[in-house]
Amino acid sequence: MLQLTRIRRPGVLLVLATAAAAGNAAPFSLDAAPGRLPKDVVPLDYTIAVVPDLEAKTFTGKERVTLQVRAPTARLVFNSLNERLRDVHLDGKPVSQVVSDDHEQLTTVTLAHVAAVGRHTLTFVYSGTLETQPHGLFVQPFNKPDGAHAVLLSTKMESTDARRMLPCWDEPAFRATFELTMTVPAAWATVSNMPVAGRSLQGALATVTFRRSPRMPSYLIEFTGGDMAALSARVGSTTLGIWAARGREQDGSTALANAQQILADYNDYFGFPYPLPKLDSIAVPGGFSGAMENWGAITYNDQLLLVGAASTIADRQDVYAVQAHEMAHQWNGDLVTMAWWDELWLNESFASWRGTKETAARNPSWQWWELQDANKESAMRDDARVSSHPVHQPVANELQAANVFDAITYNKGQAILRMFEGYLGPDVFRDGIRRYLRARAYSNATATDLWNALSAASGGDVDALAHDWTEQTGYPLVTVTSSCEGGARSIALAQTRFLLHGTQGTATRWRVPLRVRAGTGEPQSVLFSDDGQRVPAGRCDEPLSLNADAVGFYRVAYDAATQTVNAREFARLPDGDKIALLDDNWALALAGRVQLVSYLRLATSLGGDADTRAWEQVAAALGTLRTCGVRGRGARDRQADGGPAGVGRGR
Ligand SMILES: [Zn+2]
Repeated sequence: MLQLTRIRRPGVLLVLATAAAAGNAAPFSLDAAPGRLPKDVVPLDYTIAVVPDLEAKTFTGKERVTLQVRAPTARLVFNSLNERLRDVHLDGKPVSQVVSDDHEQLTTVTLAHVAAVGRHTLTFVYSGTLETQPHGLFVQPFNKPDGAHAVLLSTKMESTDARRMLPCWDEPAFRATFELTMTVPAAWATVSNMPVAGRSLQGALATVTFRRSPRMPSYLIEFTGGDMAALSARVGSTTLGIWAARGREQDGSTALANAQQILADYNDYFGFPYPLPKLDSIAVPGGFSGAMENWGAITYNDQLLLVGAASTIADRQDVYAVQAHEMAHQWNGDLVTMAWWDELWLNESFASWRGTKETAARNPSWQWWELQDANKESAMRDDARVSSHPVHQPVANELQAANVFDAITYNKGQAILRMFEGYLGPDVFRDGIRRYLRARAYSNATATDLWNALSAASGGDVDALAHDWTEQTGYPLVTVTSSCEGGARSIALAQTRFLLHGTQGTATRWRVPLRVRAGTGEPQSVLFSDDGQRVPAGRCDEPLSLNADAVGFYRVAYDAATQTVNAREFARLPDGDKIALLDDNWALALAGRVQLVSYLRLATSLGGDADTRAWEQVAAALGTLRTCGVRGRGARDRQADGGPAGVGRGR
C-alpha cells in the first residue's frame, strides 16, 4: 500500500513500542502467529453475495463460510463492524446466540452443540453500511469527464476494513478462497480480484459473480463498480487492464505500457510467474488516496495511474514508481503475506525496494536511486532521534496496525534491503528471494523465513546480520582513522549509534556491511563489527568512500587527512559517493561533530556537476543555514534537526 496521507511521526509510535507483543523469531506457523482470533477454527472458503442500496447507503449480504474446526469448540469468534447477522446456522442448524460487538469489532457465535474436529459450514444473512470514507465497501462521488456528477463503488480493506463489508476472520494469517457476487446497476463495469464468471440481468440491475480467488488474506479483497472503461493487453497468459472513468481510459495508455514492461520483468526476476489470470489497475476518481495492492485488482488514486496531456515528467515518474511498487506486492504481500502486522515492513520495504530497483533500471536517465536518497535521509533523520523505533515493530492487536505505516517501515526498510543486496550481490540476493517465494507461496512468512532463504542462497548467516538492522533502533556512525605507510593507506574503524542529540543507546553495535571504494574503482564489501578492525583502503592520495553509491544506511566520519583528499578529489567521484559524503557531512555538522566548513568545502567542490540530488541536498542545506542563521562550528545549538533530508519531491 502507498498511503500518502497517513505517514506518522515516530514520536507517536512510542506507545506502540512499549505495548509490545512478542515478535517472530521463528519461521511462520499459524499457531505462533500473533492475533486476537482463536486458531481453533479457521476459514477455508467464503461465498459472499452483496446487494448495495446506493440511496440508503446500506447493503445486505449473504455469506457461506466453510470452516475447518481444529479443536472441538462451542464458540466461533470472528471480525465484524457495523453489521447485523441473522439466520445464523452451522451445518444447517440454528446457533444458540450471536453477539456482535462493534467496539471490539468481533462477533461471537455460541453453538447449540460442540462442533467436532473437521469441516463445517457457517451460513447467515447480514446487513451493513456503505461507507463514505475509503474503507470497507465505499461510495465514491466523482465528476465524469463531461462534468456530470456520478458515483462508483470501490473497496479498501487494508489493514482491518474487510470486516466492514463481510464478517470474516480478518487477520492476515487466515488465508482462504473467496467467491464474490455483487448486484449493481446493469450499465456499470465491474472489477474484482478475479475475472467475471457469470452475469445475469434483473431489470436495471446486474448480478455479477467473479471466479473463486486463490487462498489469500481478507485485506486483499477488491471490488469496484461504476461507469468505467478499460484498455487491455496481454503478457504471456496474463490479461492486463487499466480502468478509468469512461472517457478517460485513453489516459491509461502509459500505465498499460508500464505494466507490460514491469510484469515481464517481475515474472523473470521472481522466477515465479504471476499466478492469477489477469491483473487490473483501477484509477479511482474523486480523491481516493494512495494506492492499494489488492491481488489482481490494484486500486490507485487516478493521478497516480493516468497520464494526460497536462502531465509533467514528475507525474510520469510517480506513475511508474507507484505501479512498480504495487506490482511488486503481487508477489511480496499477496502471494506471500507477512504473518502479522508487526512485520508489515516485509511487505512494504520489499515492495519499495523492488519497485525502486525496477524504476531505476528501466529509466536510467531519471537517476531514480539518487532521487530516492531524499527518502532515505528522511528515515535517517527520524532514526537519529532517541525516540525512534526498530523496523520490526510489535503490534499488540490489529486495530493498531495502521500506525506502523511510517518512514521507518517504508524507507529504512527499503534502504537496508538495498544494503543487503549490495553486500550479498544482486544474483545471490535474487536467488534467495526466489527460494523464499517458492517456499512460502500462497501462505504467510516471517522475516526469519526470508533470512533463512537468503542464508541458504549465500551460504552465510544473514539472520544475524539482519537482526542488527531490523530489531535495533537507529544506525551506526562509523569513524575512520587512517594511517599511511609507503603510500598505502589502511584504516581503523570504530562505531557508535548516530544521534542528533543525546547519548542514549550509543552502546548499540551493528554488523555493518560496508561498501568501500578507494579511488574510483569497483567497491569492495567489508563486514565491520568490532571496534579497532583494520582494513586496507587503497593509496593515501586517493579519495575514499565507505558508503559507495550511497547504498548503506549508516554515516561515516572520516579523519582529517582522508577528508582533505576527498574534498580535493570530490568533483570526480561517482554521483552516489558524492551524495553520501554530502549527506554525512551535513548530518555531522548538525550534530556538532564536524565543523560546518567541512561540509561547505565539499559543496563548493561540486562545480559544474549536473546531479539533481546533489544540488537538491546543497540547496536545502543552504536554505536551512539561511533560515536558522547557523554560523561557525557545530550547527546543533541553533538548528534543531531540520535539514535537507525531506526536501525534493517527497516521494
Ligand atoms: Zn505498499
